[in-house]
Amino acid sequence: MVTPKSGPKPAIVWFRRDLRLADNPALAAAARSGAVVPVFILDPADMPGGASAWWLHGSLAALAADLARLGAPLVLRRGDPARLIPAIAREAGARAVFWNRLYDPAIIARDKALKASLAADDFEVESFAASLLAEPWEVRTGGGTPFKVFTPFWRALSARAPLPAPLPAPKRLTGLAGIASENLDTWNLRPARPDWAGGLRAAWTPGEKSAAKRLAAFLDGTVRAYGAARNIPAIDATSRLSPHLHWGEISPRQIGSSAEAAAIAHPEAASGVAAFLRELGWRDFAHHLTFHWPEITTENWKSEFDAFPWAGDEAAFRRWTRGETGYPIVDAGMRELWTTGFMHNRVRMIAASFLVKHLLVDWRRGAAWFEDTLVDADLAVNRTSWQWVAGSGADAAPYFRIFNPVLQGEKFDPEGAYVRAHLPELAALDARYIHKPWAAPSEALAKAGIALGSNYPHPMVDHAKARARALAAYAEIRQSG
Ligand code: FAD
Repeated sequence: MVTPKSGPKPAIVWFRRDLRLADNPALAAAARSGAVVPVFILDPADMPGGASAWWLHGSLAALAADLARLGAPLVLRRGDPARLIPAIAREAGARAVFWNRLYDPAIIARDKALKASLAADDFEVESFAASLLAEPWEVRTGGGTPFKVFTPFWRALSARAPLPAPLPAPKRLTGLAGIASENLDTWNLRPARPDWAGGLRAAWTPGEKSAAKRLAAFLDGTVRAYGAARNIPAIDATSRLSPHLHWGEISPRQIGSSAEAAAIAHPEAASGVAAFLRELGWRDFAHHLTFHWPEITTENWKSEFDAFPWAGDEAAFRRWTRGETGYPIVDAGMRELWTTGFMHNRVRMIAASFLVKHLLVDWRRGAAWFEDTLVDADLAVNRTSWQWVAGSGADAAPYFRIFNPVLQGEKFDPEGAYVRAHLPELAALDARYIHKPWAAPSEALAKAGIALGSNYPHPMVDHAKARARALAAYAEIRQSG
């Protein structure tokens, strides 16, 4: 056992998805109490998807460098946290264990059990609120029940007292030497052969500093046009903070308080800030729903969907994942996802709707693909969003509203700039046909170097027929329900 030479016994800070120094109440509590042992555990039973794992590597490297600079090196271990946290606490001669709360159903169960066993072993153990604007149990309807609909949820959340001011980052920490750590590189979180992460590296820099820079740049300009431009995928009009938020490199409280300050300093930014904070509210809503109805991550929220006649067509699913559906806006989205680990929100809705409604593939298959390929993959947000798109979820888009991918493309990407950016094979096509190349005259196709069925696919389903099939499937469950 390693014991501190003098002073109070150390405290363990268990980092999870709060990979930051600032506004980190668990770290602040440990710093107040004396020597700090920061720990991150990679649990092989709870591995992130491929793109998320790539992000995690970068984020941990950044956090480890920051903690080392402050004097408390990060301890990395791989295994079951239920076993490792008490083991490290004993090894360090620690008195206390602190962490910030997460709300995924399996994590809540694990953390509750660990808290009880640490307390039984006489450790001081405390968890803190740090990942949401409000704890999922703090926002209630007038009748005291959780919310099922976003608008009143957001009204209640916004009406709460102003957010507490974010905590500053500690200036220095007292660490504890001699606690063994694994080497991050041996965790193989980054792909090696093949190295498919070039597009991710080009698009992103994980870490707390990068998150703060992104927020500052967004609030400095982009946010002013956010309300109008956030639905246009060709424009860099949104914050792109979602992966930073998922890994907790920045907190919603930090975002909220900086955004409110920006709106006061620049009144012309106020409406953009309000629209932006409302989107951040959707993130809280997803966690609120998941906390109160944990089955929402795996089961249809509306049980009539249990009888839905999914087609389960494997070949069709594969074409969708590769961005080879023949509908340019869908394919551009799927290629953006594959290359950069991100997809614009409007296109996520169109691509997800296409899978569920045009191809009749169960939303859970699409959700799992997103979880493997998104850098911002988040169980609660992803699963509730898929259910929302599928029509099976809380406060969901009605099932019978079936996006027409051509009209959606023409509305939100009128010149085809987004499609051209992600589908170079269509780059030279006249804007009139960019969202429906099959309707282009053969001269227009030839001029653009497109041979349908050869370098770009024919549409894999006919929209009108697919729509009719989806509506028939829906009618079937309504009758049986
Ligand atoms: P901004 O527009 O700048 O919004 C700011 C923040 O608000 C985001 O970073 C995000 O945390 C939150 N937010 C924005 N839109 C939503 C939304 N519709 N629902 C919940 N929170 C939102 N987001 C994820 O973070 N992880 C996911 O796994 C995920 N899966 C999705 C799956 C589908 C099918 C759909 C339709 C949406 C999904 N989203 C997911 C929500 C949304 O697409 C992303 O949060 C958003 O595109 C991130 O871009 P941004 O940071 O620039 O967002």
